Amino acid sequence: MDKYRIKPGKKLDLSKWDPNDKSIFPMGKKVGKDHLKQLNNELETLQELLYAEGKHKVLIVLQAMDTGGKDGTIRHVFEGVNPQGVKVSSFKAPTREELAHDYLWRVHKHTPGKGEIVIFNRSHYEDVLVVRVHDLVPKEVWSKRYEHIAAFEKTLADEGTTILKFYLHINRDEQKERLQARLDKPEKIWKFSLGDLEERKLWDQYIAAFEDALGKTSTEASPWYVIPANRKWYRNLVISSIIIDKLKSLNMSYPEAEDDLSGVVIE
Ligand code: ATP
Ligand code: MG
Repeated sequence: MDKYRIKPGKKLDLSKWDPNDKSIFPMGKKVGKDHLKQLNNELETLQELLYAEGKHKVLIVLQAMDTGGKDGTIRHVFEGVNPQGVKVSSFKAPTREELAHDYLWRVHKHTPGKGEIVIFNRSHYEDVLVVRVHDLVPKEVWSKRYEHIAAFEKTLADEGTTILKFYLHINRDEQKERLQARLDKPEKIWKFSLGDLEERKLWDQYIAAFEDALGKTSTEASPWYVIPANRKWYRNLVISSIIIDKLKSLNMSYPEAEDDLSGVVIE
C-alpha cells in the first residue's frame, strides 16, 4: 500500500498517478467486492478493540474532486462498524460564526477523542483548495496555511492521534460520467447541483491546488495517500486495507478486568 503514499518533501505531479490502477488487487469487481466483505469484518473487529481499549485516537481525512466518491467510501469501507465510536464530520461552506474565527477553529473540536475514529468528509484542506481556487482570501493569507496545517496535524500526532489522509483520485472523464449518472437517475438527482458544473470548469486549477496541498503536507506522522478511484470497488479495497494495516500496527489489546474476578460465581 506504500506505493500510494506521498513521500514527504517531494513535489507532487498528479498526472503521473493512474486513477485506473488496479495492480494491488487485480482480481476484478466481483471477487473484489467479496474480498471487501472480509475486510469489513476485520475492520469491525479492530474498531471494537480500539473502542474497548480506549487509548488511541484515529483521524481519517477524505478529500476529492466533486463526485470523487467520499460518501461512497464512507458507506462501503465502514459498513458494519459499531456506530458508537465512529463519527463522520462533514465540512460545508463555513457559517458566519465560523468565518468570524480562524479556519482551524471549527475543525479542532471535531478531532477524535480516545477510542474514537473520526472521518472528515472534506476538512481544513478546503481552506487551501476551494478558498484558493476562488480567491476567497488573498494569496498571502492562504499561502501561509500549508505550514499551519502541517503544524496543527503535528500537534495532533504528537498528542497521540493517528492520522491517515486519502485523496480519491478520479479523472475528468470519470467525473463526466458520474455527473451524467446523477442527472439520469431519480435516486441520484438530489446530489446534482449546477454549481458542480461551474467547479468542473476549474478542474486544472483544482488539480494544481491539490498538488500543492498534498505535496506540502504529507509527513511520516500524517501521510497523504493518492487512491486510484475511477473504480469504486478498488478504491474501497485499498482504503480499507490501509486503515486495517494501520490499526494492526497499534498493537492494541483488550483491557484487563479492573477487579480480581477469580473465583467469581454468578448465582
Ligand atoms: P459533497 O460535495 O462533499 O458530497 P454536498 O454535495 O452534500 O457534499 P456541497 O454543498 O456540495 O454539499 O459541498 C460542500 C461545499 O462546501 C463544497 O462546495 C465545498 O467546497 C464547500 N466548502 C467546504 N469548506 C469550505 C471552506 N472552508 N470555505 C469555502 N467553501 C467550503
Ligand atoms: Mg457536492
